[in-house]
Amino acid sequence: MKSKKLISRRSTLKGIGAISASALIGPKTARSKEIPAVSDHTFGLSDTRRRIFQKVFQTPFVDTHEHLIEEKERLAGVSHPRVKSDDWTMILSHYIDSDLLTAGMSRKSHDRFFSPKTDPIDKWALLEHYWPAVKNTGYGQAVAIALRELYDVEELSKKTVKKVQSGYEKLRRPGFYKHILCDLAKIESCQVNCLTGKPFNESDMPTLLMQDISIVGMFSGPNIKLYSKPTGIKVRSLSDWHRVIDFWFDKYGKYAVAVKSQDAYRRDIDYEKVPAEKAEAIFKKRLDKQYIGPKEKKSLEDHLFWYAVERATKFNLPIKLHTGYYAGQDYMPLSRLINNPGSATGLCSSAPETKFVFMHICYPYYEEMISIAKHYTNAYVDMCWAWIINPIAAKDFLKKYLVTAPANKILTFGGDYIPVEPVLGHAVIARRGIGLALSELVEERWLSLDDALDVVEPIMNKNARRIFRLGEKEKVLKNVKWG
Ligand SMILES: [Zn+2]
Repeated sequence: MKSKKLISRRSTLKGIGAISASALIGPKTARSKEIPAVSDHTFGLSDTRRRIFQKVFQTPFVDTHEHLIEEKERLAGVSHPRVKSDDWTMILSHYIDSDLLTAGMSRKSHDRFFSPKTDPIDKWALLEHYWPAVKNTGYGQAVAIALRELYDVEELSKKTVKKVQSGYEKLRRPGFYKHILCDLAKIESCQVNCLTGKPFNESDMPTLLMQDISIVGMFSGPNIKLYSKPTGIKVRSLSDWHRVIDFWFDKYGKYAVAVKSQDAYRRDIDYEKVPAEKAEAIFKKRLDKQYIGPKEKKSLEDHLFWYAVERATKFNLPIKLHTGYYAGQDYMPLSRLINNPGSATGLCSSAPETKFVFMHICYPYYEEMISIAKHYTNAYVDMCWAWIINPIAAKDFLKKYLVTAPANKILTFGGDYIPVEPVLGHAVIARRGIGLALSELVEERWLSLDDALDVVEPIMNKNARRIFRLGEKEKVLKNVKWG
């Protein structure tokens, strides 16, 4: 409704048709204001490519992973800790900020660039030197596409920064989430892992921003204060803590689509089944704030991980686990990450009834993940984030996956963003990658055109709807009144 008024120019274009057209002809080609629908804009493409790209760009995504804060929190500006500054640099505040630092931008310049105290127009001078180095990465392309599609700016520069800023201000109004996600990126629903530290977020838009239960604080630490306070349970023993975990599942299990843990940022995912009797004494030490050695710490975490996973499995919730690449800069130990696929197979063997969704294709160890999805009944792979970490690796992954492992176990899109704007850029990159992977498979004669077209809907939305039981969730979320 309101969102329609937000960008009049855009609304005259045929939604995703316009986006797909520019995606097809590439980022450098000048775009006419009267860009026609996709069917008229696939010039230069073979018939095969045109048919595949049309279908991929018209098919909605179920977006299986985001960190979006609530729209009202975005509108409240810098009062939210995830909104560094409420100007055009907000769009560069997640992911590409790391490329800027690894490209050599100093911490001081970085902080000034994202500071609400710096004039938005003056910020270009801080970026200018580094933008050419980062604009071609997946992170950079997601930003560039968002600027083009949202503000009609072909190239970020000293000349255009004013237009970017005024476009940002005009768009960032009530209704802009739905406009960007649904109207422009053609996403039917998102699955949000909130980063507040709390286990669940009661969203104002419960059917658009569906939620995961965050289990990380249930076993890592564990985060006794934050998780137990709302339950009213005084935690004096391991069984009290089990009751705290139960509380969250009993309260939100039917509303959540999955559970999520990003614990792989801290340790490997080699969780072993440790009995409560062994964990009890260690948990007591934790309560008494006594020293716990690394071996004991692992035993306690492992026990609690499986306790939470068993609860999730009772509620038929898949377990989403971060694997592979680390966001940020200057701390990623590849010697640890390389063990993620091996440990993932340990999890699948230990709990055949549990669905494990391994996220981010465990980049850069993605070939291994194809073998896991092929071999284990309960293993699923989610390409969330992968398209902007390395777009070509993601395309190759999908291509290889489809001729190796069952097509009903792959999820192809999650923007993985805190700001909503670059989700649009990411969705365009993902659609382009899916279109290329399928086109190449047909051209190389691994797949017939009909088989390639038939797989589009399963990998872009139907698998997600089935794996996360979205029909059922929509029904309960439609009428939910939190609190
Ligand atoms: Zn994430």
